[in-house]
Amino acid sequence: MRILVTGGAGYIGSHTCVLLLEAGHEVVIVDDFSNSKPEAVRRIGELAGRGAELAEVDLLDRASLDDAVAEAGPEAVVHFAGLKAVGESVAQPLRYYRTNVAGTLNLLEALAPTGCRTVVFSSSATVYGPEPQLPLKEDAPTSATNPYGWSKFMIEQILADLHAADDSWAIATLRYFNPVGAHPSGRIGEDPQGIPNNLLPFVSQVAVGRREKLSVFGDDYDTPDGTGVRDYLHVVDLAAGHLAALHRLVEVGGHHVWNLGTGQGRSVFEVIAAFERATGVPIPYEVTDRRPGDIAASYADPTKANQELGWTADHTLDAICADAWRWQSQNPEGYPD
Ligand code: UDP
Repeated sequence: MRILVTGGAGYIGSHTCVLLLEAGHEVVIVDDFSNSKPEAVRRIGELAGRGAELAEVDLLDRASLDDAVAEAGPEAVVHFAGLKAVGESVAQPLRYYRTNVAGTLNLLEALAPTGCRTVVFSSSATVYGPEPQLPLKEDAPTSATNPYGWSKFMIEQILADLHAADDSWAIATLRYFNPVGAHPSGRIGEDPQGIPNNLLPFVSQVAVGRREKLSVFGDDYDTPDGTGVRDYLHVVDLAAGHLAALHRLVEVGGHHVWNLGTGQGRSVFEVIAAFERATGVPIPYEVTDRRPGDIAASYADPTKANQELGWTADHTLDAICADAWRWQSQNPEGYPD
């Protein structure tokens, strides 16, 4: 198939593009490089043994997007492009709603006149809100606590309404838990700009000497060791989940929501220990106050994706840490410009 991948140069997008190309699909990346580098696209081609096409377009530039979509002639779209920093979304809500929600509307409107009606959307377990019932199933109540989360919530609703209005639209909403790790080659991985917000990139940067120590945001949660518990899944497993969802969608159509997670919760202290085991590098840390807005624990019930997609996230936390370290140690400053 010809697949349009918005945000294909980003962290999850790049890993998904490699697997799509390896599976024999043609890939057209739409990315404006606002939070990614062209070098990622070059390395996708290097890993897959053949390249993706590239349209350097901002989803908010409607005229250019229409042209890019028409020229690409996709049979399906995997939509990653969007802003994703929770704290920044609280400070800049309009920017988040415009980029994420209006960007998605532009994309769907650009697709409408083409024959392409198959969309896989990058959503987040953040839509389960502040007091999740664990383990999280897809039919749990949804909500949000910040503009980033609300933007995902709104886009999910837009996609559901679109399918309800016209069931020739085939929609998969994928709710990611915590994507971590990197391609086992060490050639592509997560390249956050500035100070990392997420745990694994911060730990990796401490290990490589870019940061002095990790702040553990609270050890007084109601969890086994007091630190926050999350469901960390390998980014290559997550990428494989997109292929499984896409293939299923093409077979059966419809509107589906699938959790992509391992089903296992791990604490911050468990992550630190696994990283130290995998790398042999000690991670200095101090326990600080809780981060505002954080919840004690979140982990998936991935049964629906396991059964309907024949997909599981089976990389261990140790394998995740080893791959994250290969990427970080071989690319200590991330991708070159
Ligand atoms: N965390 C931490 N120090 C950091 C970053 C994160 O202790 O520098 C904790 C955070 O409180 C949470 C877990 O690590 O319990 C995962 O945080 P992350 O931001 O990676 O994911 P999210 O909270 O969005 O699920």
